Amino acid sequence: MSKRSVDVESHEKYFISVDEVRQQIERCPKCGEKVEFTHLSDHENMYLHEEVQCKKCGFGPVETLHILN
Ligand SMILES: [Zn+2]
Repeated sequence: MSKRSVDVESHEKYFISVDEVRQQIERCPKCGEKVEFTHLSDHENMYLHEEVQCKKCGFGPVETLHILN
C-alpha cells in the first residue's frame, strides 16, 4: 500500500479555517478527481483529524491534524 503521511497544521480560528483548508485540497493532486474526506473531531483536546483519500486512483490516505486553538 501507499505510504502514510501526517501533516500538522495550526489554526487560530475554529471551523471556518478548517473549511478553507478543505476547499484547497478537495481535489486529488494526482488525478484531479474529487477526494473523499473522513473527519474525526476531538473537542476536548481541540483538534480535528482529517483523512483524505482518492477512490479513483488510490492516492492517499493523507492525514492532517488540525489543531483548533
Ligand atoms: Zn486520484
